[in-house]
Amino acid sequence: MIEVTSFAGRSVALFGLGGSGLATARALMAGGATVSAWDDASRSREKAAVAGIPLVDLASADWSVFDALILAPGVPLTHPEPHWTVRAANDANIEIIGDLELFARERRLRPVDCPFIAVTGTNGKSTTVSLIAHILKHAGRDAQLGGNIGTPVLALDPFAPGRTYVVECSSFQIDLAPGLAPDVAVLMNIAPDHLDRHGSMDNYVAIKTRLAAAGRSAVIGVDDAISAGIADQLDDGLGRVHRVSATHPVEDGVHAVGTELYEVSKGSAVKVADLAGVDTLRGAHNAQNAAAAFAALRLLGLDAETIAAGLATFPGLPHRMEIVGRLGRVLFVNDSKATNADAAQRALGSFDRIYWIAGGRAKTDGIDNLTDWFPRIVHAYLIGEAAERFAATLGDAVPHTMSRTLEAALGEATRAAMADPHGEPVVLLSPACASFDQYSSFEHRGNVFREAVAALGDVVA
Ligand code: ADP
Repeated sequence: MIEVTSFAGRSVALFGLGGSGLATARALMAGGATVSAWDDASRSREKAAVAGIPLVDLASADWSVFDALILAPGVPLTHPEPHWTVRAANDANIEIIGDLELFARERRLRPVDCPFIAVTGTNGKSTTVSLIAHILKHAGRDAQLGGNIGTPVLALDPFAPGRTYVVECSSFQIDLAPGLAPDVAVLMNIAPDHLDRHGSMDNYVAIKTRLAAAGRSAVIGVDDAISAGIADQLDDGLGRVHRVSATHPVEDGVHAVGTELYEVSKGSAVKVADLAGVDTLRGAHNAQNAAAAFAALRLLGLDAETIAAGLATFPGLPHRMEIVGRLGRVLFVNDSKATNADAAQRALGSFDRIYWIAGGRAKTDGIDNLTDWFPRIVHAYLIGEAAERFAATLGDAVPHTMSRTLEAALGEATRAAMADPHGEPVVLLSPACASFDQYSSFEHRGNVFREAVAALGDVVA
């Protein structure tokens, strides 16, 4: 745990007692703050009580005693409308911050050298932070991986010389961290997302820009127009901004040509790694993730060979194009995290002969925008609520079967793929749908798939 001493002897209100809220309360208390914690959900309050965290009903509390409101990132700061605790904090004229801000302040108070990489973007955050942490560990460094990906930042090991913090930052967390100052800020990409919570694209972009601007160095993916604009805006010509692309050459930074990564300095490019054969980093989107990780780690002083060796051994992340087995030439891939068509598109673009298991609870856009990838799909096996709707979209273009359940789909897809004499057939679960009609989460759905594949027998994991 990282003890938060910046509020020692002072009193804070804390709202939101999920995993990061509990960790934040503990860290504040350990550092000598008086915490008054609350959550609307009684189950969360009960958990906090068991953990010894003092509960105070903030709705009827005297806010004049508090020096700050510490807010969980899931609680609306501005949109669709400010939470009632936000109004109370504004009325009391106290600051509203989150755990990342406490982390940043504590880091400033410690005179030890702890490199800090912060990663944000619409897509690829978890893959990129995991990749960076893996490469650091592979190189024998102490890497602390946390933030939005899981372990709350304040639950990471305390600051110690050489320890490197690799932190995934959601927009909500950045919004609550005005003092964030990473050594390297990584902005992967920007696509419309979460606009309900940020009010407008402008606000969403402004938050992402703020993180990129706050880094001593910035690594910016320039494959979408908005991020490319941010790179131009922040580029002072003094080498602070490093561009990353999976689609075109850059002047200073890292770009990918197919599976090859090139490091570019002052316009001259050197091949530094090849992702061919790295199953966990297939596809152009993963080339972008690898290029970003490469650029960020170079800025921390790692040499190119060390980074390349780490890239080659990345174990990948569960439920994101995760290879869960092989049966003869047939590959089984769990991409349960693809809960919308945009995410499924990445997987469909990464394989050539696809036996596609799709469906669940559809998002508004369905799979209408996936037609370009239909030629890669040999046969589709449709499950869940979206089966009829997806069948209508596939029409005559893609042969399909109404499998209804994941288990039936896997059996049918496996039989067909095993009989396919061509290339590398892939049985791909990339549902383009939420899981909640049949499962409790995308992780649950992915685990069921993984276990069912293992039960096929003779599966080489
Ligand atoms: P995040 O943490 O930002 O949600 P993940 O690394 O968990 O991102 O990847 C989630 C999904 O997004 C993946 O399954 C893949 O389909 C897609 N994805 C991953 N990296 C990228 C990228 N660089 N650009 C676009 N899509 C990506």
